[in-house]
Amino acid sequence: MPPSPSTLVLKVAVPAPLRQLFDYLPGRSGELPAPGCRCEVPFGNRMLIGVVWGHQQSEVESSKLKPIRRVIDQQPLLDEDLMALCDHAASYYHHPIGDVVATMLPVLLRQGNEALLPGRLEWQLTAQGRFAEPSALNRAPRQQQALELLQQHPAGLPADMLAGLDIQRTALTSLEKKGWVVLREVESKAPAPRSLMAEVPPTPGTEQLAAIKAIQGSKGFTPFLLDGITGSGKTEVYLQAMAPLLAEKKQILVLVPEIGLTPQTVRRFEKRFNVPVISLHSGLTDRERLHGWLRARRGEAGIILGTRSAIFTPLLQPGMIIVDEAHDGSLKQQDGLRYSARDLAVWRARLLDIPVVLGSATPALETLQLARAGRYRHLKLSERAGNAVPPTLLLEDCRSLPGRQPISPNSLKAIEETLNKKQQALVFLNRRGYSPLIHCHDCGWEAECRHCSVHMTWHKSDNRLICHHCGAQQRIPRHCPGCGSSNLGDAGTGTEKLEELLKARLPDCNIIRVDRDSTRRKGSLDAALKKAHSGAPAILVGTQMLAKGHHFPNLTLAVILDADGGFLSSDFRGPEHAGQLILQVAGRTGREQVAGRVLIQSRHPEHPLLHILLAGDYNKLADALLGERRDIGLPPFGHLALIRVEAAKIDQGMSLLGDIAQLEGLPEGVQLLGPIPAPIERRQGRFRSQLLLLGPDRPPLHRAIDVMLARLDSHPLARKCRWHLDVDPVDLL
Ligand code: ADP
Ligand code: ZN
Ligand code: ZN
Repeated sequence: MPPSPSTLVLKVAVPAPLRQLFDYLPGRSGELPAPGCRCEVPFGNRMLIGVVWGHQQSEVESSKLKPIRRVIDQQPLLDEDLMALCDHAASYYHHPIGDVVATMLPVLLRQGNEALLPGRLEWQLTAQGRFAEPSALNRAPRQQQALELLQQHPAGLPADMLAGLDIQRTALTSLEKKGWVVLREVESKAPAPRSLMAEVPPTPGTEQLAAIKAIQGSKGFTPFLLDGITGSGKTEVYLQAMAPLLAEKKQILVLVPEIGLTPQTVRRFEKRFNVPVISLHSGLTDRERLHGWLRARRGEAGIILGTRSAIFTPLLQPGMIIVDEAHDGSLKQQDGLRYSARDLAVWRARLLDIPVVLGSATPALETLQLARAGRYRHLKLSERAGNAVPPTLLLEDCRSLPGRQPISPNSLKAIEETLNKKQQALVFLNRRGYSPLIHCHDCGWEAECRHCSVHMTWHKSDNRLICHHCGAQQRIPRHCPGCGSSNLGDAGTGTEKLEELLKARLPDCNIIRVDRDSTRRKGSLDAALKKAHSGAPAILVGTQMLAKGHHFPNLTLAVILDADGGFLSSDFRGPEHAGQLILQVAGRTGREQVAGRVLIQSRHPEHPLLHILLAGDYNKLADALLGERRDIGLPPFGHLALIRVEAAKIDQGMSLLGDIAQLEGLPEGVQLLGPIPAPIERRQGRFRSQLLLLGPDRPPLHRAIDVMLARLDSHPLARKCRWHLDVDPVDLL
């Protein structure tokens, strides 16, 4: 018997919450889109934009399958590299592939818009127009002028140039109606070749040179940890290491924290090389983002600077990936596809067979341990660049400081002295708003968010209480909702109150506040940073936004308030993050001629970790923390995954997690921690509970996740609750 004719089936990644590809028949036209092309497909009773992932000959009954509706791309939009990255992310994070693809694509492509870069619009003469007599237009002088100009430039003239020459658009459209000229879109021309270097780089120090040579000498996939103290010139290492690659027309992808993507940073890259630099950050319009994406894909951009999601930028000629401030929390996405851009960067470099450099003065313990174990090449910069020296860290014992006073007299004196020397001081407090608590002195009532189990923060300038978890706002009550008393007060200090306090104490001084509230207006962050860069004497007041990567040349003192909270946190990463933050803030001081000084205010001055930190050596702190982690098998010595349920009632989530939390059937060695109500038990009106999976190695952990997901998929309660999985979770609250 002859074999039955097989059917060609398209495997399509569709943005639906199911962890699978979907089967479709080719469209009625018989057109067969290649893998990587977008198409429109019927899904339930909707039309969705999906991406063809592959073709398959299928013997199965295909009468139930629907044909795709429309092919959008004639050429694949995604190349094999990006498709492989999506496959990896989908499998590693156990996430629906269609949603991974949707996360990766710029919004306009996700919506099905054409993947076209706007070319230049040019007015050109038609054959008829070339021989037209200008004198025929004596009564229309503007048209005459336009015609003459175009006859002098038979190759055509850009529309914007004609507008600049005062040729009116109406004149040109009248000529168009006569059939003498046409408006054509032409590809924008590549810029004329110039020499690569736009400035002379500084001579690298010995350690910088060794790092540059190591990176330049690597062949194929090589992960590096560039472990350099603050101000040691890591950026200079990136710049010099990438030069030969740029000379070969290769592209460099650089990931930075959002706040690091300021005009100052972009300029530093633009100033060095004569190559187009594009920056992809949250301030772009959808169209700008699409253009950046497409220019990277066409190989037009030599350097692509971007935040977390830029890890998904297509590259025509990939040369190297750099993750600056690789410890930064913003590299982890906290909803939807909960990916770590740092980890995907390493994975993508492996797929592309290129080097990847993770740079940090305070690397995450996970990264540091990989370097110590020899999995990453460990490059060290132990000295500051130029003549700068590391700052001195001093402990400021604040046990006897009254609770309402956030800043000690000694710290205030140090700030005054600094200003008198015409230098800048930074006061760091990682809490925005005026004060974090409003309460009743008579009955003890406290203002809590209606939707979350957290206190509302008082924002004095807005005259509102705001929840920092869900954004809910309300007016300040005049009377206590508990007892009616008008004896209400506030407790604690945020940056807004700190600014007010400092202004009262030092009325003549210039204060630059940098936090999410003070920089909400477009351009205000850049303006504040510009002032700080100028070096004029001032007090910088701010949150962690001020801690990241900045180089303020005249900043010589940092006062760190309330920093020891992290050492006492219930989150096992609390001490690591507190240590990183303190050293990063300290690292902003003394970056040029004058040595830096750092006062760490503490109400727990006896804490052993604080004393390790005072030596200013992150590696010593890391030794202590890694020792603890090893003893209890927490990352990086074990691996975590978190299942979190959000439900209308607290017992729903707990009983769902309780039902699936059976060790039976799980790979050996995998432990279950919980279920427990989340530390922040209620958020946005939903009760949250969570279950942690801890595995000694990744493979059994991933098998355990599969088992747990299968249990969730078949549990009736799971349909009534929202739940998500977070592999390598950072946020355990
Ligand atoms: P990091 O990123 O490690 O904090 P940067 O790359 O910002 O450090 O360098 C700190 C400062 O030192 C910058 O002003 C930079 O221009 C300067 N610098 C870096 N390397 C050198 C060098 N080899 N010679 C002189 N100055 C340097
Ligand atoms: Zn009361
Ligand atoms: Zn809230």
